[in-house]
Amino acid sequence: MKHVLVLAAMLITSTIVAVGNVILAKLTGFDFFGLTFWFIIPAGAILAGMAAAGGGILAARLLNHGLTKIDAFMMVGVSAATMVLYYYLDYYTLVLDDGRRARDLIGFWDYMDLVLTSSHLRIGRGARDIGQVGAMGYWLAGLEFIGFMAGGFSAFALAARMPRCTDCGAYLRKLKSRKTEELTREEAEAMIDQFNNGDVAEVAEVLRWKPPERTFAKQDKRAVITHELQGCPKCMREQLKSSINVFNGEEWKEIEALESRRDLVPGLSFRQHFE
Ligand SMILES: [Zn+2]
Repeated sequence: MKHVLVLAAMLITSTIVAVGNVILAKLTGFDFFGLTFWFIIPAGAILAGMAAAGGGILAARLLNHGLTKIDAFMMVGVSAATMVLYYYLDYYTLVLDDGRRARDLIGFWDYMDLVLTSSHLRIGRGARDIGQVGAMGYWLAGLEFIGFMAGGFSAFALAARMPRCTDCGAYLRKLKSRKTEELTREEAEAMIDQFNNGDVAEVAEVLRWKPPERTFAKQDKRAVITHELQGCPKCMREQLKSSINVFNGEEWKEIEALESRRDLVPGLSFRQHFE
C-alpha cells in the first residue's frame, strides 16, 4: 500500500514538473529539460528528474516508509516518463501559425521524430544557431532520457541516506543542534574520539566542553564540530550526530568520513545538554 502512495505522490510531482516545463517553454522558448553542460552533462534533465521523483521522498517521510528496490525502480521509471509526458503535452497543445492543431495532422511518434531531428542546436553565450541537429537529435534525446533516469535514481539515493530510527525505522527529525567554537586539530580529534567511544556521561561532557579563550590567526588551521540531536517522531528515541568542518588555511570543508552517530538508549533524552 505504501508503494502505491509513493507512486501516487510521484505522479503528482512528475505532472507538475512536465506541465511547468511546457509553460516555461511556450512562454520563453527555453526548454529547461534540454539544458546541457559541455554537451554531455544533461543538467536540466537530472534536476527535473529529481524533482519529478521528489514526491516519492515526501511520501516516504510522511508515511515513515523505508524506500526499497521497488521504489527505486518506480522513481527511475516515473522520472523517465516525465520526459515523455512533457513531449506529449507539448505535442498535444501545439497550434501551428495557421491555427491548425499539430495533433490533427500528425501522430505523436512522427511528431517526436520531427522535433528531435529538426530542432536547432544553439551554442555559446550568443546562442549562435549552428543548424539542424539531424541524427544528433536522437543522441541528445537519449542523453536527456539518461539524465532523467539519473535524476530519479539520485532522488532515491538521497532518500535512502536519510537517517532512520534504529528501533522502528521512522525518519529522524532534527531536534537541536549546536556548533563548537573554533578548535585546534588536537582538540577536535579528542572530542571526536570521546564522542565515538565515551560512555553517556563522557558524551554529555563533549557537548558541554568549551575551548579556552584565544584568537586564531587568519591562516591557522582549525575546525568546528557540529553536534545535532535527532529524534524519532514515533517512539521518541534519540540519536546524536557529530560532523566536522575543517579550515585548511584557505577554505572550510566538511569531512564526511569523520561524521559519526551515537544511538541513545530508549527513554534517555539529551535535550537538556543542548540548552
Ligand atoms: Zn523510533
